[in-house]
Amino acid sequence: MTNAPRELKKSDGEFTIVWQDGHESAFSIRSLRQACPCAACRDEWTGKPLLDPESVPADITAPKAELVGNYAVAFQFSDGHSTGIYSFEGLRSRCPCAACKLRPA
Ligand SMILES: [Zn+2]
Ligand SMILES: [Zn+2]
Repeated sequence: MTNAPRELKKSDGEFTIVWQDGHESAFSIRSLRQACPCAACRDEWTGKPLLDPESVPADITAPKAELVGNYAVAFQFSDGHSTGIYSFEGLRSRCPCAACKLRPA
């Protein structure tokens, strides 16, 4: 699988995924929490966000992150939320680096 993380790195307020191709995606923990794809945070049919992004604490952390099978990462956030399963594909497409931002979706 080319689209799988080679390494997961955690630092203060940030979570970095090093992909198989060497590309690094550094996500802020807050932006990950805000993008939570679980049914409580996002309408499953319309994709409409149900979570108010402003309700996510600025100092939120993710004490735990683990791989789910071969396709996703699950985070346990410090606000107690842990139902979001973040697919590798979705994470890579949300890569906030300058190079990826410029790339048309
Ligand atoms: Zn959620
Ligand atoms: Zn990138």
